Amino acid sequence: MPRLLCITAHPDDEAGGFGGVLLRSAEGAVETHVICLTAGTAATYRGGAKSNEELAAMRRNEFAASCKLLKVTQGTVLDYPDGGLDRQDFQAAVADLVKRIRELRPEVIVTMGPEGAITAHPDHSMVSIFATMAFHWAGRTNRFTSQLENGLSPHRAQKLYYGTALFTIPERQPVSLAPASAILELTQRELDTKIAAFKCHTSQAPLFPFFEETMHKRGHLEVFHLAASITPQKMGAETDLFAGIKQIG
Ligand SMILES: [Zn+2]
Repeated sequence: MPRLLCITAHPDDEAGGFGGVLLRSAEGAVETHVICLTAGTAATYRGGAKSNEELAAMRRNEFAASCKLLKVTQGTVLDYPDGGLDRQDFQAAVADLVKRIRELRPEVIVTMGPEGAITAHPDHSMVSIFATMAFHWAGRTNRFTSQLENGLSPHRAQKLYYGTALFTIPERQPVSLAPASAILELTQRELDTKIAAFKCHTSQAPLFPFFEETMHKRGHLEVFHLAASITPQKMGAETDLFAGIKQIG
């Protein structure tokens, strides 16, 4: 089975940004994995949690419920500090993701754009930078060599995509989005499931009206930018992130 790895910053990013592609891939016999770097404890809305630990536990459960609706094979929430990804050790964060890529061996990786997605959140930008370097360096024999000495082998995922959008939010900080090169038109059922997955994040319920407004702007479209490919090529228009993927073992 081919594998898709989606790397995000906060619980709820998987549904809002990638719900359509995750569900469609899973239903198309793709093994899907989500790695979310933070448990989202810097959230304004805390769902009645009395401590960061309580909120983290709540948000991990919400993330698991969302992943279940999206038929994600394996969803993982890591322990990086929410709101603090721009102050993490760069080498350590990239090494962590490189190790996970060398273990999972995905054909396609999707993450957020370095602009920070439509909300311009700095964590979104940093997850993009970490994931981008991990995509490139996981395949090299001269990066993080201690992992290779410990039994892992280099892995080149075949394509890297950034989630992007065809609109911006004027009230937020300006973002310069990557052009959409891959456009998925979601069916009503896929869109309904994506919305239901977002609404699994009940601690974030006050954000639902904002989410619904942006979903309305997205319509049935979920759009991506092909940021890197192992095959040198001119930019084309795609409707499937697995187009042209060669399956290797
Ligand atoms: Zn986010």
